Amino acid sequence: MTRKILVTSALPYANGSIHLGHMVEHIQTDIWVRFQKLRGHECYYCCADDTHGTPVMLAAQKQGLQPEDMIAGVREAHLADFTGFSIGYDNYYSTHSPENKAFSEKIYRALKANGKIESRVIEQLFDPEKQMFLPDRFVKGECPKCHTKDQYGDNCESCGTTYAPTELINPYSAVSGAAPVLKESEHFFFKLGECADFLQEWTSGNNALGKPHLQPEALNKMKEWLGGDGETSLSDWDISRDAPYFGFEIPDAPGKYFYVWLDAPVGYMASFKNLCDRTGLDFDEFFKADSQTEMYHFIGKDILYFHALFWTAMLKFSGYRTPSGIFAHGFLTVDGQKMSKSRGTFITAKSYLDQGLNPEWMRYYIAAKLNSKIEDIDLNLNDFISRVNSDLVGKYVNIAARASGFIAKRFEGRLKDVAGSALLAKLAAGSENIAGCYENREYAKALRDIMALADIVNEYVDANKPWELAKQEGRDARLHEVCSELINAFTMLTAYLAPVLPKVAEQAAKFLNLPEITWEHTRQTLGGHAINKYEHLMQRVEQKQVDNLIEANKQSIQAAAVPAEAGKFVPVAGQAGFDDFMKIDMRVAKVLNCEAVEGSTKLLKFDLDFGFEKRVIFSGIAASYPNPAELNGRMVIAVANFAPRKMAKFGVSEGMILSAATADGKLKLLDVDAGAQPGDKVG
Ligand SMILES: [Zn+2]
Repeated sequence: MTRKILVTSALPYANGSIHLGHMVEHIQTDIWVRFQKLRGHECYYCCADDTHGTPVMLAAQKQGLQPEDMIAGVREAHLADFTGFSIGYDNYYSTHSPENKAFSEKIYRALKANGKIESRVIEQLFDPEKQMFLPDRFVKGECPKCHTKDQYGDNCESCGTTYAPTELINPYSAVSGAAPVLKESEHFFFKLGECADFLQEWTSGNNALGKPHLQPEALNKMKEWLGGDGETSLSDWDISRDAPYFGFEIPDAPGKYFYVWLDAPVGYMASFKNLCDRTGLDFDEFFKADSQTEMYHFIGKDILYFHALFWTAMLKFSGYRTPSGIFAHGFLTVDGQKMSKSRGTFITAKSYLDQGLNPEWMRYYIAAKLNSKIEDIDLNLNDFISRVNSDLVGKYVNIAARASGFIAKRFEGRLKDVAGSALLAKLAAGSENIAGCYENREYAKALRDIMALADIVNEYVDANKPWELAKQEGRDARLHEVCSELINAFTMLTAYLAPVLPKVAEQAAKFLNLPEITWEHTRQTLGGHAINKYEHLMQRVEQKQVDNLIEANKQSIQAAAVPAEAGKFVPVAGQAGFDDFMKIDMRVAKVLNCEAVEGSTKLLKFDLDFGFEKRVIFSGIAASYPNPAELNGRMVIAVANFAPRKMAKFGVSEGMILSAATADGKLKLLDVDAGAQPGDKVG
């Protein structure tokens, strides 16, 4: 039976770049959607940029743009990044759309008609200078518990306490710096507390296929939030915000806007509606209350509350269908740690593409780490290199490379019919099991099983040695048979991997002379079929490419580290511990000679005395010191334990000299008081 399925990924926010953390989710979703399509199901994948709210409004103001113009540019950039990784949306839309406005209003009116909306006057912090109410994250001040300064209005990053913004000591507006005042305002609330019985039932229930709506870990979270039998701890949900706000105005409530989290999930509907209107699909069939179709949301674990509770209740009490399942995943760490801008592991999708790394490598690696649980997954960069090279290049692509030459040269490109092959029967036997793994989002298991099949094929290659058969007199028929089995085996492996490696599958289809790869190819042989010339399908990952990627991400934050507005501390890097600091060996050094570098307008060459040895360091401060010779004899502070770095054609730099960046873009060398000697440790 053909299933009809609507699938979504969470909507990326239109104020920031797509990074590998986003990519985990969109790759996870895309693999699932491609698998369903390969199986012949009718599956639609919709997404959009999430465009509303205070952060977008303020970011646009800062850039001197209308928010509409800013979000249009951001959406284009997001879509280019996702497309670069072959994320195959059927529609990638925007929440700032007429469809989304219409559905947001319709849902709101329906909830209101059902008695689920209530208005209350609340007190909120207001920025008297900027004339706007301040969201929690836009109020800062001293933590009432541990007294750390400059903490956000919702929780303290130092001690972890959560509190109301009104509890901060000496609060100030992060927008203007002014001291906020309390001001009353009418807000609209969605009476979520009244939906508790329904949510109890839905969150612990199953869909029409008998599968649970939520993962077991998510259900445990729900029990925490929903409380025990009969009593609920669910708070009503404030769905309105006051002008100025970038969003949709609430019907019959001038100056009041829908909170961005109300219209963001409605964006799934709006994106699908836009697709339906373009293609003639029946929207109601998917969204009516008694819909027989399936709808799944892939999300990060941090937005479970919004989806499982708010969104599901909104749908239910405005007369629409509810989700068939919500699939949450964990966060991405890199080399076992939180992604870090200063370490260069906050890797943007664009930098990965710009550095020329193959997106299918990352798709494969991420998939090899994903399962159905809500666990964080780690991108270990060394493991990334070795796994991609050993699995994809060593085990998989090489099968085609080794067999295709003989088929082309000796058998006019034609395969022998090998329908009865025992090797191929073994490969075909995995089809339903591996399909089950994909269906249940156990991708790591699917890929382990597929690579085990690839191992069987490679053992077969070693046992039959086509390159030796080719040299033996009268073994042509056997050579033809073995190579045809290998090309068939390669086809089956390609079909198994097709959800993960769409580009490779597409190129392989050309080589195999097939219109496309489908799941049927996991269990079919090709017969006496003519294939095309083999062209190499995938290169190995080189260590240098990964090093360059990390370097590029480090540089991009240096470029982004703009001077702070007067009087404000803008951190350029995440928090560092004492241990991090102690890793940097800084020393006093004496300038023996400083000179301009021929062919470079940026660099100065320093011969330095570190006391224990002499070194050469290149520093990019030429623009700030037009007369380098006047630096001779002075002291500087330099990092002494960086790995030597080759500076293009100019030579090797053995460290880094510290300087301060002034607000007008000049660099000023650091000095040390009299008495310090070359080689003295700085700390
Ligand atoms: Zn604190």
